[in-house]
Amino acid sequence: MAEIKDNIYGYTTTEIAELLLTGDVKKYRIDQLFDWLFQKHENNLDDMSNLPKSFRTKLAETYDFSLPHIINQVESSDKSIKYLLELVDGEKIEMVLMPTDRKTTLCLSSQVGCSRNCTFCATGKLGLTRNLTTAEMIGQIVLAMKLLKPEVLTNIVFMGMGEPFDNYDNLVKTLQILADTDGLCFSPRRTTVSTSGIAPMIRQFADSGVKAKLAISLNAAIEDKRCELMPVNKLYSLQQLKSAISHYLAYNKYKVTFEYVLIKDFNMGKEDLKALIKFTGDLSCKINLIPWNRVEGLDYQSPTQEEVDEFRTAIMRVNKAVTMRQSRGDDIGAACGQLAYQNYINKG
Ligand code: SF4
Repeated sequence: MAEIKDNIYGYTTTEIAELLLTGDVKKYRIDQLFDWLFQKHENNLDDMSNLPKSFRTKLAETYDFSLPHIINQVESSDKSIKYLLELVDGEKIEMVLMPTDRKTTLCLSSQVGCSRNCTFCATGKLGLTRNLTTAEMIGQIVLAMKLLKPEVLTNIVFMGMGEPFDNYDNLVKTLQILADTDGLCFSPRRTTVSTSGIAPMIRQFADSGVKAKLAISLNAAIEDKRCELMPVNKLYSLQQLKSAISHYLAYNKYKVTFEYVLIKDFNMGKEDLKALIKFTGDLSCKINLIPWNRVEGLDYQSPTQEEVDEFRTAIMRVNKAVTMRQSRGDDIGAACGQLAYQNYINKG
């Protein structure tokens, strides 16, 4: 059986330096390697032309330099591209690149499937297979940066398949490599972790000192309704969630974003609005409204444009920073809650 090598993208730059710095390999060679891996986004050792052959041979013998493998892709009419990626063990995940005039955002996955079973989410229907490694998350980012050239990636959201805080240690290490000036040198200000609301992990994250913006998939501010949509609310109530968010805000200068999927005849009534305003009113936050995207097999209905406008206007009356996320990638199953291996023409 072939020996399984550790993937180089799973190490921090400090760890790589500790592993490679020997009498034969000088510090400037390590810096050159970082430049290839994290600035030039080159993972082919043969192309790392300024590294000596002997060093490259040693690296190839010891480490795996592979990135997740694209086995299919589909482009939306709005130019979003959804990629189906195969991992080293044959498991599959999805990532989405979403370009607009001003920015290009990568939505990456943190798990194969997800155990949280939110009723509106296609990924939740898959159940959890396993966590992604740090190398598999960094791999998606490097792959996206490579694919985009000469354009640059401007924003990263951990909002694909999986609950990032259920993969906490690997997530934190990924964020460290991402922000590291010798690593991918990507601003925490442009990095967002989206969670279903795992209150104790939000607290732990705030205490860790690792920086990233936080998005909370809220979707209802009434306990019963949120429990119906998101079983995680049975474990961590809205009150516990709010307390954890306040803790995060005490340690971070960034506003939190509340994602609110608008579902017709479910969470768009007057009492829903009142509860949303009460829950968010005293927090430093933005509210992102997302009209429900149809998902095959799920019974929820999309609201009309008129209903969406009415809800939005009502919130804006209380001066909240409200944004509306258009259903980017809706026609390719790449919009919020839709990532579940759908819509590829030739499935890998
Ligand atoms: S919305 Fe997020 S946390 Fe909930 S099931 Fe889907 S992927 Fe998991």
